Amino acid sequence: MEINDSYSNQNSNINQPIHKIKTIMHRFKNNYNLVLQDFNDKYPDCVNKLIGDYIKIVPASEDQHRKITTTLKAKGDEFYVVPTAGERPYKVVLKPASTDIADIKNDLANQEVTVCKVSQLTQWKSKFLLPMVLVEVRKNVPDNRDILDISNCCYMSIARDSFRRRPGPTQCYNCNYFHHSSQYCEIKTRCLKCTQEHRTSDCPIKERIENHECINCKTHGHTANSKQCP
Ligand SMILES: [Zn+2]
Ligand SMILES: [Zn+2]
Ligand SMILES: [Zn+2]
Repeated sequence: MEINDSYSNQNSNINQPIHKIKTIMHRFKNNYNLVLQDFNDKYPDCVNKLIGDYIKIVPASEDQHRKITTTLKAKGDEFYVVPTAGERPYKVVLKPASTDIADIKNDLANQEVTVCKVSQLTQWKSKFLLPMVLVEVRKNVPDNRDILDISNCCYMSIARDSFRRRPGPTQCYNCNYFHHSSQYCEIKTRCLKCTQEHRTSDCPIKERIENHECINCKTHGHTANSKQCP
């Protein structure tokens, strides 16, 4: 009987779509023991793990995910969410004849491709506009065409390229911490230049700062998006 029971338990665990629930990375402020204790009391079936400056929370259900993120937001706690693989947008580089963003979006929409974002690519250093656009699409949208199935955009055939990411780990444009994107970020905005609560692009300081203090490692001589940062 016991063996049967544990077998059926295991089975029901396998059937639970655990991989479909988004992980929460909670950036705790001081006493992580108390925070963990609180989570364990309220959500005994969710799995928490301490990773660096974060508590990794794996909720047991969608409902629990919603409850936890709502509570964290209400308390003003900082966190980011790790999207599941299916939710991560798929990135394709197109080289269409026109690089008018609105034209491209319309054209792809007419071809039943669900587009999240279209942006013109620039050269990293010179910021020169390149004759190509980065298209971010949702994967597996029912009744939609896959972008890899279309062959033209704005009446011209298109060339595709795989997207080469900037080397190094992902850095969030909102908080300038690593390993997540601003789309899923609920951490306070931090400016690279002055550490105030605005995006670096909105900073009133427009000129370069000499012997800059890094907001991530607190040493001088580089910014937190620099390769020199440990
Ligand atoms: Zn962030
Ligand atoms: Zn600033
Ligand atoms: Zn640094």
